Amino acid sequence: MAAFDFSARLRAVRAWFNASDEDWADWRWHMRRRVTTIEDLSRFLPLNSQEADLIDKAGKRFRWAITPYALALIDPDDPACPIRAQLVPSGMELISEVGMPDPLNELEHSPVPDLIRVYPDRVALCITDICQVYCRHCFRKRRVHEAPPADAFERAVEYIAAHSELRDILVTGGDPLMFSDDALLEKLSRLRAIPHVQILRVGTRAPCMLPMRVTDELAKGLAALHPLYVNVQFNHPRELTEDAVAALARLIDRGIPLGNQSVLLKGVNDSLPVMKELVHKLLMARARPYYIFHPQLVEGTEHFIPPVEVGLEIHAGLEGWTSGLAVPLYILDTPFGKVPLAQSRLVSRDADGFTVRAFKGEVWKEPNPKR
Ligand SMILES: *Cc1c(COP(=O)(O)O)cnc(C)c1O
Ligand code: SF4
Repeated sequence: MAAFDFSARLRAVRAWFNASDEDWADWRWHMRRRVTTIEDLSRFLPLNSQEADLIDKAGKRFRWAITPYALALIDPDDPACPIRAQLVPSGMELISEVGMPDPLNELEHSPVPDLIRVYPDRVALCITDICQVYCRHCFRKRRVHEAPPADAFERAVEYIAAHSELRDILVTGGDPLMFSDDALLEKLSRLRAIPHVQILRVGTRAPCMLPMRVTDELAKGLAALHPLYVNVQFNHPRELTEDAVAALARLIDRGIPLGNQSVLLKGVNDSLPVMKELVHKLLMARARPYYIFHPQLVEGTEHFIPPVEVGLEIHAGLEGWTSGLAVPLYILDTPFGKVPLAQSRLVSRDADGFTVRAFKGEVWKEPNPKR
């Protein structure tokens, strides 16, 4: 198959939307022009009537929307396109019976609505149910169907203010960057004003799926709330387009450290060469690979889940073989917190030392003092 030519596709998609330079650079234009119907989608991707029917059914069960920018990332000639798999509803979502709507038991871990507390010193706070695109693998498929109650944010601020041990607030969603700059910065400032809150983190897929959302003004506003970190989600090297890399640069040029959280997805990135290219491109964009999540068993996502051995092999194929900076932790999230998965390097322990296996397999014995 011919290599996908993103810039040619971008021109074609822009032409179809009749988008001026100004339109294309405006994230609200992309939100207004999102593709949400089979009729529109079929103008961009060849769909037979059976596929169209399944997309329609799956899309009615789990909401979908694709921005013009994200649409341009999809290779119309490749039915197995890794971007398409993440964005276009599929009949596979209807087959799985085993997934749970809330695999992490988030509802039970919410002392107030939309605030999730699993750890002693930090919380995740969901401030919206809206995203620029609706990822088919999203483990919050349940949440993206439900708008948060109107007073949820106020109650969360109250809870955090009353718990002085909470030093790290992870603001997530949905996608927090769906708010206007003013609305988002106002919310973040409220959290920043709580004296014991040391760091703020914002989780967003906008740099990947809607890079024009990350304007210089927004980056400047976020940087005024330092120390503030941004966690992004890139799952495939092709998502690191010039536009996406420029969006990341606008953040990190303002001193906002970037971490990437990928999801290991069957048919998207479940191979060592793809993951290696992804982590290297992320480092070039100054985004540190932080986590690779083993996917959660959520309703409608079973077809994305690879065997754990695949993730372990990818992790072992990175560790030692490339820069330590490029090696994310491989994580299984559970109702009791995140658990790093890795093949053990510790071979044995005895009275006079412990034995480890290096990345190429050599064994080394290290002396061990008594406790
Ligand atoms: C992931 C998560 C955090 C942040 O965890 P880190 O491992 O520190 O990145 C905090 N709270 C909840 C509920 C989470 O799921
Ligand atoms: S952007 Fe994040 S929250 Fe929104 S659908 Fe994708 S994975 Fe889910």
